[in-house]
Amino acid sequence: MSSFECTDMTRYSAWSVFKNGLTGQRNWGRAWRDPEPKPQYDIVIVGGGLHGLATAYYLAKNHGQKRIAVLEKGWLGGGNAGRNTTIVRSNYFMPGNRAFYEHSLTLWEELSHELNYNVMFSQRAHISLLHSPAARDAAARRYNTMRLSGSDGELWDLPTLKAAVPHLNYAEDARFPIIGAAVQRRAGTARHDAVAWGYARAADQLGVDIIQNCEVTGVQRDGDNVSRLQTSRGDIAAGKVGFAVAGHTSRLWQMAGLGNLPIESHKLQAFVSEPLKPLLDQVVVFGVGGAHFYISQSDKGGMVFGGDLDWYKSYAQRGNLPIVQDVAEAATSILPCLGRVRLLRHWSGVMDMSMDGSAFICKTPLSNLYLNAGWNYGGFKASPASGWYFADLIANDRPDPVIAHFDLKRFERGVVIDERGAGPDPKLHG
Ligand SMILES: Cc1cc2nc3c(=O)[nH]c(=O)nc-3n(C[C@H](O)[C@H](O)[C@H](O)COP(=O)(O)OP(=O)(O)OC[C@H]3O[C@@H](n4cnc5c(N)ncnc54)[C@H](O)[C@@H]3O)c2cc1C
Repeated sequence: MSSFECTDMTRYSAWSVFKNGLTGQRNWGRAWRDPEPKPQYDIVIVGGGLHGLATAYYLAKNHGQKRIAVLEKGWLGGGNAGRNTTIVRSNYFMPGNRAFYEHSLTLWEELSHELNYNVMFSQRAHISLLHSPAARDAAARRYNTMRLSGSDGELWDLPTLKAAVPHLNYAEDARFPIIGAAVQRRAGTARHDAVAWGYARAADQLGVDIIQNCEVTGVQRDGDNVSRLQTSRGDIAAGKVGFAVAGHTSRLWQMAGLGNLPIESHKLQAFVSEPLKPLLDQVVVFGVGGAHFYISQSDKGGMVFGGDLDWYKSYAQRGNLPIVQDVAEAATSILPCLGRVRLLRHWSGVMDMSMDGSAFICKTPLSNLYLNAGWNYGGFKASPASGWYFADLIANDRPDPVIAHFDLKRFERGVVIDERGAGPDPKLHG
């Protein structure tokens, strides 16, 4: 059998769990193969994060493409895919974003069945706290627009919020007095590395070669065509190439000799506490002025939370103490009961911050090179739709109308998708 044909791996089911239980769990097959890179592929996706893996899966599944490879310089899920705070929502306002993120949420709702892999998607509700009448008015506009365009959204008054999340800081003299909340019930969390493994396993079953420890170190061009990729495991020729490398996009772009992108690489940290008994059943978010904070509780009991970017550009995947202090202050101001909880771990990922806070899924100046980037700190929720539409773009060489505005030329046209109203200043996107 050629390695591009479907592979025959165990289909996960209640029966397979039962059967393997009877034989001491010794007969589970590999989740995906570990193939040697071939000298040539029809399509090569650089980056084995969520966007790259989802793209490879939908290329094979939706478009019947064969001879596909995903090249990953480290291990699957070692980038932002396995470092995020796992929040999934579609509460976007701008016309360019709304349909895209709603499609993504719809894909999330069936993802475990689609991939035959439990991604632990939990629609536990996303609660954005409101602290002023002006914020409530803005939320009413946004959430009404979401409802009018087929999504779900609710505004909660204070008694409703207090009944649902009793232990927030409701004191009148609180640093951030709460007056209500904007809520998307279909939003929630998923287990991030399970999503990477689920897409990898499903893509592998459709014949995709997933090649870890394979860093792209150079991009060879033949005029306006990419002819081959130099990698740490030898040269690989490709008919079409897709970049899906998140915070490393500018480096790959420069390897292709294309100059600069409207993207900056910034660090974002996440934090997890020691495990606690059930405390918070939803995702809770707030943002006032310079403060930005989001929190949920993992299935193991750890409080998972994060805040702002680190305020400086870097490729370092580690945290620093000023942000620990900043985020801990935000945590205790909104959930004072966390004051004595111990922090277990914190880490960082490298964000591909675009100049308007929105993504790129587009063609490039090179005829067979395609770009998937600019996810900022919101690309986890986007990964199913990103893979879906990027695969469609690569297979058909034209953008679906839903992503037509996610192109690089929007800056030339002056039609940016500035959802955050932060302008060309990535550090203000937080
Ligand atoms: C702390 C934190 C919290 C976040 N919270 C959320 C959240 O709650 N909700 C949300 O929606 N989003 C969130 N995000 C954002 C989200 O994680 C990212 O936008 C998304 O994961 C980016 O896409 P990816 O998974 O494909 O990236 P990555 O997983 O970073 O994948 C890119 C891959 O490319 C590989 N690569 C780079 N260069 C090369 C090369 N030269 N050759 C081969 N491979 C290469 C990297 O090793 C990496 O594995 C958060 C991010 C962080 C860091």
